[in-house]
Parts: sequence; structure tokens; C-alpha cells
Amino acid sequence: MTPYRGRFAPTPSGALHFGSLIAAVASYLDARQARGEWLLRIEDIDPPRCPPGAADAIQHQLEAFGLYWDGPVYRQHDRDHAYGAALERLEALGLAYPCSCSRKQWHNHPIYPGWCRDGVCEPDKPVAWRLRSDLGLRPVSWEDRLFGTQSFDPAELGDVVLKRKEGLWAYQLAVVVDDADRDITDVVRGFDLLDNTPWQRQLQHALGLPEPRYLHLPLIMSRDGQKLSKQNLAPALPLEDAAVRPLLHQALVALDQSPPPALATGPVDEQLAWAIAHWDVGRISPDPARRADDHATSP
Ligand code: GLU
Repeated sequence: MTPYRGRFAPTPSGALHFGSLIAAVASYLDARQARGEWLLRIEDIDPPRCPPGAADAIQHQLEAFGLYWDGPVYRQHDRDHAYGAALERLEALGLAYPCSCSRKQWHNHPIYPGWCRDGVCEPDKPVAWRLRSDLGLRPVSWEDRLFGTQSFDPAELGDVVLKRKEGLWAYQLAVVVDDADRDITDVVRGFDLLDNTPWQRQLQHALGLPEPRYLHLPLIMSRDGQKLSKQNLAPALPLEDAAVRPLLHQALVALDQSPPPALATGPVDEQLAWAIAHWDVGRISPDPARRADDHATSP
């Protein structure tokens, strides 16, 4: 059997918050219980969205919670060559095409209608690159470890952007190339990314790459029912041990692991040792979103 290799892949658009802690803790515990590796990949593919210092802040936060990764920190901003090679391969297979259309032109359609598939509509304009989703049609399906069988109709997915007009690589291509290059066997991340997975499966299939297992996690909502995010001013994770300990415990509670209450005051390595030994995906209740009435989730 292939040894387990997981990863945590934050976008450094700001510091981590309680919602990101859930993904970090769950992917860490899943990897450690399987005696696998846990890699850290900073998804700084979109530099204008990544303030300087955010990647360092994320690493300090992970260390404060005892979440130590294996090997070097991988970053996406210097992976131009690898993404370019994947795009060339797709183009050679007739599966990627340049597209000059703007959203304004197709806003009356539910998805991009593929007008540039057989030739760019306006060759003098800047082009994005898209994946053809109309060839080799077959339902995209996989078994999510928590949410069960997922099945998507390729005709409803549309031709996802692989490279943007400004020359930035799109998340879908980067994540697939990077996961494959690092031999990632298991992707553990938030439910908000579940509907991105079909494009990633399409790309893996098109590029002949192995398909990792997927575990999507319930999203933690703030008291007023909003998804925790930097935009919603979710508080940044603390660094002081006195604040970190109860918060780590709350993350284990939010993941339905039922940690002993007394563990909440224990050092992080003690909490993590307990959590690795008791980690059980079967305990997580498969509700896509849940509310946490707690100071962890409100500004
Ligand atoms: N970079 C993404 C995020 O921070 C996660 C990507 C992934 O886990 O596939 O939401």
C-alpha cells in the first residue's frame, strides 16, 4: 500500500483563524494516525492577495499549536515551470484552449458556453486558458470519506480556467499538479472546496495522474451564520500558550472527537497525542455547516 501523505495548503491571504485550524488539525491527525507524512504548502499563487509576512505568520501559528510539518515548506509562487508543463500537455492533448471571452459577454449563461473551443473569438485580446469539459463525457464521481458518493455531470461543470488573462495560474491546475508532484494520497480540507473537486478529478484524469482520497470537513459558522473567513473578520489564531490550549481543545470538540474536558488545560503535545490515538473520522457528523457559539468564532 502507498504510504500516507497528507498536506495542509493554506492561502496566505492573512493569518489562520478557527476555520483554518479545523482543516489543519484534521489533516494533521489523519496523517499522524496513519503514521504518514504531513506537508505544508503555502498557496501563494496569487501574489496581490497575499500580504507580506502572512506566510511566516501562518507557520508561527501552526508551531504554537504543535502542528509541525515534515520536510521543507512548499510554495506555489516558484512553480511556474511545472504548471506550464501541465498546460502544454493538456494543449497537446487538445484538452486546453485559449479564450478571449469576458464574463460580461456570457453573463446570461449559467456556465461559460465554450465559444472559444474551436478558435479564439477575439485573437487580438488577452486570453485565459480553459479546460475542455465536453470531451470524453462521463460523470465525475468519487467517494468522499465523510460525505459519501459525490457525482457531478461534466456538462454542468463548464470549462474551468487554468490560467487567467493576467497570466496568473488558477488554483485548480496548481493544486492538482502540486498534489501529484508530492505524491499526496489524502486531501483533507473544508467543505467549501468540495465543489472544486470535480474539476480537480477531471484534470487528474486528463493528465493521467493518481487520484487521492478526499475527506471534506464541516464548515464552522460564526454565531450569525456566516462562514468563518478573513473577510468576515474571524479572529486570528493566538500564539500565547494560555489561549492556544483551550482553542485546540475546541477544535477537537468541533471535529466531534469528544476530548476529555480536563484535556483543555493540557499542553498542546499532550492534547495532540490523545487526539492522534483517538482520531476517528466516523465520529464526525456529516453536516456541511455547523455553528460554534464561541468566542473562537467571533471578532
Ligand atoms: N488554499 C486553499 C485554501 O486556503 C486550500 C486548498 C486545498 O486544500 O486544496 O482554502
